[in-house]
Amino acid sequence: MAVKVATDYPMFIDGAAATSVSGAWLEVHSPATGDLVGRVPAGTEADVDRAVAAARAAFRDGRWSRMGLPDRVAAMNRLADLCDAHADELALIETHQTGTAYKLRRESDFAFASDNLRFYAGQIRHLEGKAAYEYSGSHTSMIRREPIGVVAQVAPWNYPFWMAIWKIGPALAAGNSIVLKPASATPITTIRLAELAAEAGVPAGVLNVVTGRGDVVGAAMAGHMDVDLISLTGDSETGKRIQTLAANNVKRVHLELGGKAPFIVHADADLEAAARGATAGTLINGGQDCTAATRAYVHRSVYDAFLARTAVLFDGVRVGDPMDPSTDLGTLISQAQVERVDGFVRRAEQAGATIAAGGCRPDVPGFPNGAFYRPTIVADCAQDSEIVQNEVFGPVLAVLPFDTDEEALAMANDTKYGLAASIWTRDVFRAMEAARSLNFGHVQVNDHLMVTSEMPHGGFKQSGFGKDMSSYSFDEYTQVKHVMIELTGEPEKPWHYTIFGDKPE
Ligand code: NAD
Repeated sequence: MAVKVATDYPMFIDGAAATSVSGAWLEVHSPATGDLVGRVPAGTEADVDRAVAAARAAFRDGRWSRMGLPDRVAAMNRLADLCDAHADELALIETHQTGTAYKLRRESDFAFASDNLRFYAGQIRHLEGKAAYEYSGSHTSMIRREPIGVVAQVAPWNYPFWMAIWKIGPALAAGNSIVLKPASATPITTIRLAELAAEAGVPAGVLNVVTGRGDVVGAAMAGHMDVDLISLTGDSETGKRIQTLAANNVKRVHLELGGKAPFIVHADADLEAAARGATAGTLINGGQDCTAATRAYVHRSVYDAFLARTAVLFDGVRVGDPMDPSTDLGTLISQAQVERVDGFVRRAEQAGATIAAGGCRPDVPGFPNGAFYRPTIVADCAQDSEIVQNEVFGPVLAVLPFDTDEEALAMANDTKYGLAASIWTRDVFRAMEAARSLNFGHVQVNDHLMVTSEMPHGGFKQSGFGKDMSSYSFDEYTQVKHVMIELTGEPEKPWHYTIFGDKPE
């Protein structure tokens, strides 16, 4: 399959390719081979100004927000069709940018992205709000659900295209204009997305993409006085910075941040299903997934059996050439990420934990510079250790035993994060109690990782606030206006005396 490799990919501003006013470029390299995948402009604050001005002009004249509904729906459906038609090419670029296995990109992200878009194309036709009614007795009240205006969106590197879709789908459906910034390591498929949106009929200025560093371009977007909402998917520390910058004009803030998902295995669970669920749940995208299973709490009576079976599955995972269809796990995003992950594992080992699988860099023939790391299980960790408390963002599962249900729930909730959790049991009472007690935005019973376009994804606590996917995300990108129409036509109202004059007899 042919792909444009080692070429320049300009940004996309006001419906056209654009270079940065800086004239500088950033290189994108494959974490598997080290090869140059392409170059993108090193955007600046001035580029953000240009993109915001284009977005504002588009919003002001209503070329998208007031486009006839059938045309807007059709454009979004055409974009979904174009994503499908270009899925092979896009998945290939994504594989080169991220180093992750092609089969994951092609069969997962790109299969799901167009479904997300189609959901939002349909959502525009189903606006929610209170029914119009005479709540005051003498006025008809009604709700208008309107777009917010210029929305700035900052995306991460782990699922570059898919996260961009999660952001633009609801924002476009709601009628906003967008300035989108991809992560510096993985910007190319997002530029292609903007080009496809233009081809689908999204008018110029409605979807702009500015590339560049987070602390330059992202920060300029968050602090921009003419941006009405800033949305980030990224690290919790980045979220805190953005929240501070956003205060200058009281922008709305939408934050999808880090996670540290617990995975609770009870003695009555189907252990084979749990072991398989832990393997998929931990190793998805090399563990570079905010909902990945990271902490397995296993009942002491089945602890050894679960550990032994999961270690066999981890050891059987095929790490190698991302383009080989038999490869399960490609690289992490960079050598720096491998260093970071290995640092967590080494320090846990020094603190007394046991390496039950992996715990090292594999030797992958033909890829001497590849950022590979073996699927790793670290057993007998301490609850307060950094590997249990902090986001590792790599293919690493920490495993701890528990004795009672209360202890398992308390340890699972003992985290600053609150994005996703799962519990494995055949006892419906136990499952329902866990669903109530686990302090996470998404709790699953007997599975991990599943998401669906119709239901929300989003965190509690330092995992952020605001939802992705579903009608809840659509609502985040709208504002509610109350319109009241006086019905009596009387110049003097019965309540006027409270402000001037005497109470009517
Ligand atoms: P990151 O915070 O380093 O970067 C995310 C984006 O923010 C990038 O585009 C980056 O350029 C930009 N950025 C960095 N510093 C900035 C600043 N000072 N001001 C404005 N923008 C800035 O995160 P990452 O390493 O790209 O992604 C991994 C993180 O994202 C993990 O913590 C992961 O859990 C989280 N994540 C969360 C979700 C979710 O839905 N909750 C989904 C995917 C990833």
